Amino acid sequence: MSKTILILGACGQIGTELTQKLRSIYGNDNVIASDIREGNEELMSSGPFEIIDATDKDTILKVINKHKITQVYLMAAMLSATAEKYPQKAWELNMNSLLAVLDLAKEKHINQVYWPSSIAAFGPTSPKVNTPQQTVMEPTTVYGISKIAGEHWCNYYHEKFGVDVRSIRYPGIISWKTKPGGGTTDYAVDIYFKAIEEGKYECFLAEDTCLPMMYMDDAVNATIQLMQAGAKDVKTRTSYNLAAMSFTPEKIASEIKKHIPEFEISYQPDFRQQIANSWPQIIDDSSARKDWGWQHKFDLATMTQEMLKNISKQEQTV
Ligand code: NAD
Repeated sequence: MSKTILILGACGQIGTELTQKLRSIYGNDNVIASDIREGNEELMSSGPFEIIDATDKDTILKVINKHKITQVYLMAAMLSATAEKYPQKAWELNMNSLLAVLDLAKEKHINQVYWPSSIAAFGPTSPKVNTPQQTVMEPTTVYGISKIAGEHWCNYYHEKFGVDVRSIRYPGIISWKTKPGGGTTDYAVDIYFKAIEEGKYECFLAEDTCLPMMYMDDAVNATIQLMQAGAKDVKTRTSYNLAAMSFTPEKIASEIKKHIPEFEISYQPDFRQQIANSWPQIIDDSSARKDWGWQHKFDLATMTQEMLKNISKQEQTV
């Protein structure tokens, strides 16, 4: 059956690259990007775009009917660091958008929903190493509370109303095309830009803060692979653990030094340190690997090569 896809929050770090990949698979005209603001030139010129507030169910429905949408990817959210500054707004955006989309699926306006959770759904009482798919989850950030609540809403709509909703707990996502939108793992993107532009970086996390991370290509491929999996293979309807690599600021700095020997890093931890301390260090993603065949491609060394190569190219053309 042919798919017509709507992406809410398409102009963000992940949405931008997800949209382009989906357009290359399903055809530009079958993938409708939307956001509350316009995106980059490539996104805006390669296919249809609509301004949509992801919390506005009526407008989403109008666009679903206009383009005969079958699948919605909900990428709009307020991320961890920003959400700590605006807790009420974060809760309203993260929850109301999800409930609007789940309701539209329950009312059979669409067949399938994708919604991302995060490693932030875990908390300080979760095991930090090899964090299991199912374990204690007591998040201490507003963002994490919205993600664990969202996971349970997804499972509820699946169990109670048969909604085909699928989800991944993304680790920190690293990419060079679109800057990250206010998360705690943003340092692992900024560090590459600063290494090339200034040869030095002041990190807002301490040198030994180990967190799970993933290169954008892997995150986008995993998302599409999960959405293409047979319904019976998708056994987890809260959200899947997903992993590729874990590293500390010290480790990423030493990998960068292999390419830029004069690179220097200093550390000035801020409020984001406390958020990072509450999260897992290494995730056990064996369920995703077993259920729908997830395999990552990029490790720290190959990702560092890609990031430095692409940022240098991008800066030369600006
Ligand atoms: P981002 O902040 O880069 O992008 C979010 C997009 O949503 C922005 O383009 C913004 O304009 C848009 N938006 C904000 N309010 C909106 C509204 N009311 N209606 C429509 N659009 C709105 O975020 P991202 O990094 O692309 O994250 C996408 C999803 O993945 C989020 O659910 C996030 O929680 C999750 N996630 C991201 C990471 C990461 O490292 N980037 C890690 C874990 C989970």
